[in-house]
Amino acid sequence: MHIVMVSPECAPIAKAGGLGDFAQGLSRELAVHGNDVEIILPKYDVLRFDRIEGMHKSYRDLWVPFYDQYIHCDVEYGEADGLKCFFIDAHSQHGFFNRGKIYGDADDQDRFVFFSRAVMEFLHKSGRRPDIIHCNDWQTGLVPVLLYEVYAGLGMGTTRVCYSLHNMGHQGWTGPHVLHMNRLDVDRLMTAERLQDPGNPHAVNLMKGGIVFSNFVTTVSPRYAWEIQHTEQGKGLQGVLHIHDGKFGGVLNGIDYSTWNPEIDGLIPAHYGPQTLPQKAANKLALRQRLGLTDVFKPLVAVVSRLDAQKGVELIRHGIYYALEQGCQFVLLGSAPDPAVNAEFWRIKNEMDENPDCHLELGYNEELAHLIYAGSDMILIPSVYEPCGLTQMIAMKYGCVPVVRRVGGLADTVFDANYSDRPFEQRNGYVFDDLTYEGLESALGRAIGLWHRFPEYFRQLRVNGMRMDNSWSTPGQHYLDIYNHIRV
Ligand code: ADP
Repeated sequence: MHIVMVSPECAPIAKAGGLGDFAQGLSRELAVHGNDVEIILPKYDVLRFDRIEGMHKSYRDLWVPFYDQYIHCDVEYGEADGLKCFFIDAHSQHGFFNRGKIYGDADDQDRFVFFSRAVMEFLHKSGRRPDIIHCNDWQTGLVPVLLYEVYAGLGMGTTRVCYSLHNMGHQGWTGPHVLHMNRLDVDRLMTAERLQDPGNPHAVNLMKGGIVFSNFVTTVSPRYAWEIQHTEQGKGLQGVLHIHDGKFGGVLNGIDYSTWNPEIDGLIPAHYGPQTLPQKAANKLALRQRLGLTDVFKPLVAVVSRLDAQKGVELIRHGIYYALEQGCQFVLLGSAPDPAVNAEFWRIKNEMDENPDCHLELGYNEELAHLIYAGSDMILIPSVYEPCGLTQMIAMKYGCVPVVRRVGGLADTVFDANYSDRPFEQRNGYVFDDLTYEGLESALGRAIGLWHRFPEYFRQLRVNGMRMDNSWSTPGQHYLDIYNHIRV
């Protein structure tokens, strides 16, 4: 099958979070099975160019419609870890992809609507007729709309779209100007059945457009699929998902074990696996040395996260003080887009400056993330909501025991050491329900207690997590089944 993955992120070259891992991991799995997979991304100025091989212009002079004019683009090509990637390079005074970051500007909707248009124009003009376009999140929600409203009539009538929802908290709310920008029929599209936002009749909802116009819609875990149809986690799109229930389902994400595997990870000093677990200790020591923590007999609790309201920042904050009070060490790696949250964590960082048991690293650091998973004993994930969550799966592979709130994909992957009804060998962490300090303490307290009092039991929990198969193999097959189901 010829599959085109359209995504605003792809690890390791353009990653802000789990979507980057998804695009890379699924694309690789599909390619391994002999499919022709092409990834299309914006040519951001912040691409990790050092990780792209053979970058060159592959399509010159792509003129992309923009209101009553055209914007001149080129398309570049390069390989990232063996994956074929195309990059839309827009030459316009808007500097759409030259912002020093992937997201976070007032015109993000316009930037990614333009990207979506450029992708379709590129596929059309370069003569590509993929069997499947796989789109992701609101940034690419307009792709299936453009396909069916414009490009199907220009010879792309056999292409089908699978659309994945990674986070309902960001739906691409914008104005009808994005339809004018693309010379689309505003009266036809600004209706309750199509792109009109359910909460605001004057707003366009790009994610809704993606849901309505795609041939199949997935989200990243079965539990989140249920939550967004049946609870306020759908953030207003519950009704739309009900209407389109027949083409909607949850597929649990995998993780890419060629990137995330302590037996071969080139970013950690000591390799280990379930049979050689004691060697994990060398990574704990290396982490302590790197971050200036003392080498003492204490469990090390970690957080690796975007510090966003979604991630339960208030409970993360509380977790730091609670873990230290309970005689643990604490390491946090996080980036906070919200200035108030950023300031609060800087305040805590300064407060902990002299504390030999605590270190906060504020920012994004891929290499340090690997060392933290390898060197820590527990990872704390107290999310308000969590569509899938990769950190718990990565942590488990590294023998780091997750302490999580029972929501979304966390509920589908972490099974409580004491309370799960699963067989013992499937229990792999600690789970709590209430979004409160008490909730967090009940689970983290049990984990810490076990580490001290029953080390052999704690070791077994680590091994149970390491032995879980969260590879892309099963979800990759699910996606192939979906593509086969919708393809012509
Ligand atoms: P989300 O996509 O909501 O951010 P996920 O758990 O799905 O959350 O994916 C998070 C991914 O981003 C993981 O690969 C994690 O290691 C990585 N990550 C999160 N924050 C940081 C950070 N500050 N530095 C490095 N990697 C990070």
